[in-house]
Amino acid sequence: MFRLVCVNCGAEYDQNEIIYRCKSCNHLLTVKYDLDSLEISRSEWEKRPLRLWKYKELLPVQGEPVSLQEGGTPLYHLKRIGEELGLKNLYAKHEGMNPSGSFKDRGMTVGVSMALQLGMKTVACASTGNTSASLAVYAAKAGIPAVVLLPAGKVALGKVAQALMHGAKVIAIRGNFDRALEMVHDLCISEGLYLLNSVNPYRLEGQKTIGFEAVDQLGCVPDRFVLPVGNAGNISAVYKGLLEYQALGFTDSLPKMTGVQAEGSSPVVEAIKKNLDVLIPEKNPETIATAIRIGAPVNAEKALTAIRATGGCALSVTDDEILAMQRDLARKEGIGVEPASAASVAGIKKMAEEGLLDADEKIVCVVTGHLLKDPETVIKQCEPPTEIDPDLESLLAVLR
Ligand SMILES: *Cc1c(COP(=O)(O)O)cnc(C)c1O
Ligand SMILES: [Zn+2]
Repeated sequence: MFRLVCVNCGAEYDQNEIIYRCKSCNHLLTVKYDLDSLEISRSEWEKRPLRLWKYKELLPVQGEPVSLQEGGTPLYHLKRIGEELGLKNLYAKHEGMNPSGSFKDRGMTVGVSMALQLGMKTVACASTGNTSASLAVYAAKAGIPAVVLLPAGKVALGKVAQALMHGAKVIAIRGNFDRALEMVHDLCISEGLYLLNSVNPYRLEGQKTIGFEAVDQLGCVPDRFVLPVGNAGNISAVYKGLLEYQALGFTDSLPKMTGVQAEGSSPVVEAIKKNLDVLIPEKNPETIATAIRIGAPVNAEKALTAIRATGGCALSVTDDEILAMQRDLARKEGIGVEPASAASVAGIKKMAEEGLLDADEKIVCVVTGHLLKDPETVIKQCEPPTEIDPDLESLLAVLR
């Protein structure tokens, strides 16, 4: 049905092998289907409700998945923000509407299902927050233990709350995310835990369905697909999925894949700018958008291909621009997202202001996680509630 293939040397591995990187060259692996033998038709798919498992023929799981009905997230037309920027066809796909409040659920419904399929007993990840929340949720649903490593003091409150409440073993390390990922990788290799960071190619299989859904909701391929970039898994996943849609003859073009990073954490932007094949890690990544506070993106090589092959681009935005867009989405569109999520739309704002976009361009921005994930950053930006005595006079006084 499918094989695991090295993106660099083409070495192939059996689908039952527990492996995260190519044994001969250490590069990333990807899932390759025999698309000719797939028994699916577009019209058959169109009858199914919009959610992730609509696309099961293009996913690696056999049998009943570990699912909480993920996907099928809304695609909103950003009317007011679009008007301000002179963009008629600006959309946001709100991935905060997934079961645990971020797109990571797409990766985890597939990843945890694969863990069971492969006979693994415990799952693990390093996380800037959402991966741990999602893994905890899906491990709970599957009835298996989860271990998560977090960078101490750098994870938004809502995400830690989720990981703890859903019963994961939560460990905070005195180091950054990149170090946590190295550690959990070593742990998984030596102790036989199943690694569910986005180096795991099955995670990306789930996440590619964002692209399928957006195309199905829009009725066509957008001209541009915009994502915040941290570990660079999601942008790679959407690109891979849309390549499959094209290979199946469902679509005949690809969107310009556009990655947005935070200024203090932008190694992919640098690599694109300098035309590097291998990016230079940012040793001390820093940004208020903790979900994309990653200096050495694991999926960089896939993401660079996605951006270059589609004529897309990568750009960075400042923390102030991110927060301003978080407020705009909340107040002008009614869409509540966490800071990292606002980066995609903030990037589009910047491009529009620099005259880099066409007024008719169909643009889909992925907004990746829910507002309530990071309540502290929200509260810091807002005036506290006005407290008054409990009488009508006082109430009218503050409303005047
Ligand atoms: C994980 C995450 C990202 C970054 O996605 P990558 O696949 O690591 O590039 C962006 N926003 C949110 C809210 C996330 O949880
Ligand atoms: Zn290889």
